[in-house]
Formats: sequence, structure tokens, C-alpha cells
Amino acid sequence: MARFIFVCGGVMSGIGKGVSTASIARLLKERGFRVTACKIDPYLNVDAGTMNPTEHGEVFVTEDGVECDQDIGNYERFLGQDIPRENYMTTGLIYQTVIERERNLEYEGKCVEVIPHIPEEVIRRLDRAGKKAKADFVLVEIGGTVGEYQNALFLEAGRILRLQRPGDVLFVLVSYLPVPKLVGEMKTKPTQYAVRSMNTAGLQPDIIIARSVVPLDEPRKKKISIFCNIAPEDVISAPDIKSIYEIPLNFERDHLSERLLLKFGIKAKKRSLGEWDVFVKKMRRANKPETPAVRIGIVGKYFGTGNFVLSDSYISVIEAVKHATWHFGKRPEIEWLNAEEYEGNPSSLKLLKRFDGIIVPGGFGSRGVEGKIAVIRFCRVSNIPFFGLCYGMQLATVEFARHACRLRDAHTTEVKGAAAHPVIHTLPEQLVNIKERRLGGSMRLGAYTCALKPGTKSYKAHGSALISERHRHRYEFNGDFRDQLETCGLIVSGVNTERNLVEIIELRGHPFFVGTQFHPEFKSRPLAPHPLFIEFIRAGIKKSRMHAPEKAGARR
Ligand code: GLN
Repeated sequence: MARFIFVCGGVMSGIGKGVSTASIARLLKERGFRVTACKIDPYLNVDAGTMNPTEHGEVFVTEDGVECDQDIGNYERFLGQDIPRENYMTTGLIYQTVIERERNLEYEGKCVEVIPHIPEEVIRRLDRAGKKAKADFVLVEIGGTVGEYQNALFLEAGRILRLQRPGDVLFVLVSYLPVPKLVGEMKTKPTQYAVRSMNTAGLQPDIIIARSVVPLDEPRKKKISIFCNIAPEDVISAPDIKSIYEIPLNFERDHLSERLLLKFGIKAKKRSLGEWDVFVKKMRRANKPETPAVRIGIVGKYFGTGNFVLSDSYISVIEAVKHATWHFGKRPEIEWLNAEEYEGNPSSLKLLKRFDGIIVPGGFGSRGVEGKIAVIRFCRVSNIPFFGLCYGMQLATVEFARHACRLRDAHTTEVKGAAAHPVIHTLPEQLVNIKERRLGGSMRLGAYTCALKPGTKSYKAHGSALISERHRHRYEFNGDFRDQLETCGLIVSGVNTERNLVEIIELRGHPFFVGTQFHPEFKSRPLAPHPLFIEFIRAGIKKSRMHAPEKAGARR
């Protein structure tokens, strides 16, 4: 039977509960255990697919096609393993399941109630997740913070599980300790209140992770210990650090995995942090300011609420760029480019030459599309390494059709339904979805097999003929235009084996011009960067070398 570690948040959100959960999972994996991680989100959306990235951050997609919270991406990156659909749930999904079950008379005439039936359904799913992974440990991150109305039923699920399986369930509270400027010292009171909130829910944290701008000192550890009813060794210092990948190391400094194992009464199989330590050392060296940079521009549109949101909206793309750059021992430097600024603006296009590579990532709708197309054209004719991801690939197809193939009215039907040359269009089944407004969870989602064409860049990058990659889109390359575009020089280097759909396009005679209908960024991990990102960065490094003397001069 799996053991469960619930991770909840105190004081406020956005303090790194997801990466804390992922880090604990990694620590236990490095100790030789089988680990999986689950996320429970309090909102009523059945999944994350219908949410705007500016409000909620990136929508991550699992191998088995669930549109979920970006924290699942963190678990995959830290654990280096796929997280299946069982591991993600929302209030909406749980209620939907319970109500469906009630409609099927599965409660045998009982009155179906919020308690216990909702927590019971949560526990059923957590058990399923544990069994599927054959896990020794299941991490369970509860979205939101303790004391709010919205996630109370999930804490209740934890309480009931602990009652049913004493000794097999622990609670970790990730709390925040502010250091107000005027006061000049770290304050523990909000954390005391967070623990009191947990107490009223019938729970007591076994570990408190103390997030703050600075490390926790001994007097504060003691204070938290006394006021929060917890041993000082169970209060883990978690100051702000440069990279999230350093968190497992930091936790281990306060012996977190040892404390957890001690509480469960089990012995570690291995010493902690082998592979991860090696990776973090390499990353630290690469991130030093004196290490040569690889400068990557990402053309986005989710600029509404400033940089903070932006980096959340494209988190997997950013991490994939970093993984591949560190792989070469180089320093990633990412800059955000607002697509709309390139619409009818040749002078800003010229400035793109300063980049070693440009990415046009996934997206939806018409805003910024002409700007993205202008950027893609500039990359194509100026030999700037270009990587198009999903919408980026579709728009690269539109650009190529318009300017290299003279199909002047080429477009995606997502933006121009009546285009004379609909080079990107919908599959018949998607037309039905759109017409009947069946829009939740109905895109082409999850992993599909793609066959690579020998001799192409994509084939060389992977070194094999078949790959499997994750999708999330409603529109596709229109096969009716394939011959015409190929005659003009477009290379179709990857094709879906079952339906002959175009999955990868590239160009010959260009340092790197590749577009993928799938999202390779979802499969990149720090210990295993994605082959296409590696080749993209390799091309970027080559380009950066061409400018090396100029850059050195500028530094002096
Ligand atoms: N909007 C495009 C589609 O639905 C691309 C989606 C994406 O980039 N994820 O096909």
C-alpha cells in the first residue's frame, strides 16, 4: 500500500507549493523509492483546458491527453516520469463523477452528501493513482491555502484518509514568513494562524516548510516549534533561491527526506541526491554571468498582466530552452517579444538579428498573428534559427505558402474562415465540435505517434524513425496543399502514422527552421532535454559564435 504525503499551503498562494511538492517527490525518488504526485485544484472547471493562460498560467498536457495545471509539468520535470490522468483532479471533476454515479443509481438509494461522498471520491482517485504507479509514496498537492472555503473538502479527504490509515499519511504545510521592511524581521504570526486553521480542520502539520526571502534562523525555528506544536527539526528553512531546481538540495540541508522517512518508520534504500546533484552543479556553472549566453526570443501575446504572468503562461517552453542550453554548458537568456509590435514594422524586425534563435510558441485566435507571421518570414529569409510550436508551426506554414509559394490568400481557417488558400484547417470531427460548441477537452489531445523522414533534421535529432509527442490543437495542416508546398521547397519531415497528418515541417539550407504540430516542450526534462530543442540551441550557439568578437567588444 502506498503512503500519502499531503502538501497544503499557508498564508498565501504563489509561494512555490508545486515545486515544493515536486522537490519532495524527487528527494524520495533519489532515496530509491517509487513515487508519484497528484494535484487537486479547487476550481469548478472540469479541467484546465478552458482557462486563459493569463489567469491561470500554462495549460499542461499529459501523455494520456488531460489538459491540466502547470504543476503537473513540474512533477514530470522533477521526477523525470510521465504523470497519468488519475493524478489530476478538480472540484468540478469530482462533483461531476459523484453526480454521474448518483444518476446511475450507484449509491443504492442513499442520500448522496457532500461529506462523505466527495472526500470518498477523492480518496478513491488517490488510491487509483498510487496503484497505477505502484508507488511507495503518493504526493498530494492541495491547491489554494488552508482556511479557505474552496479547498476544505480536500483537506477533509486527507483527514479521513489519515483516520483510516494511521501511520501512512503525513501533512506538509508550505507557509510564508514575511519580512516587512519597516519591521525588519521575519514574522511568524501568519504561519501560526495557518496552523490554527489546519487545527480547526482536525489536522496538524508534520512538517512546516518555511518560505521566506531569507533563511530561517534558530530563534524563529524555536518560535514556530512552540507556537505551532511541532519539533524544531521539522521546520524546514526554504529561502528564495535562483533556480527552482536547487530546491531539493536546499530541503536536504535541513534533512527533509530523512525526517519524512523517520515519521513513516521506514529506512531509506539509498543516500539522497546523486543524479540531481550532478545536474544542479552543471546548471550553476552554466548560469554564471561570465558563461557565454544563448539569446532566445519568444514571441508571445499573453502580455496582459506583465512579465510575471508571461513566464507562467509559457513555463514548459522556457524550461525546455533552459534544459537544452544547460546541456551545452551555456547560459540561457530569454527575452519576450510582443507579437503585435511586429505588425507592419520593418525596423523592429531588423532588431531580431540580435537573437541566436526565435521561438513562436502555441496560441489561439487572431491577435498578434500577422506579427508572428512577419517574424517567421524574417527568420526564414535572414537565416535566424526558428522553432515553431503548434500555432508556430501552423503560422510558419501560412507564411511559407504566402511568400515562398505565392498563395497570397493563405491562412488558417481559425483566423479567416473563407480564405482562398486554407493551408491550415479543421478535421471533420472538429468541425462538429465547433458547431455544437463541444469545446471542453475535445481538441486533439495527448500523445500520437509520428514517423520521421530519413535524412531530415528532425530524423537526425532523434536518431530514430518513430517518435511519440503530445498534442493540443483543433486545426491541422491541410493535406490538399501538401504537394504544392513541397514543390516550393517545404519539407514534411514528420507524419502521423494512422491518418497521414503533417506533424513536422522544416526547410533545407537553413541553419534551423522547424515547426512541430505537437508540443515538444511538454516532454523536455532537466535530466533529458528534448532532441529538437537540443538541435535548435545547437544552431543558436553556432550563430552566437559568428557574432562573438562583436559581443566581446561590446562588453569591454
Ligand atoms: N490554435 C491552434 C489550434 O487550435 C494552435 C493550438 C496551439 O498552439 N496549442 O490548432
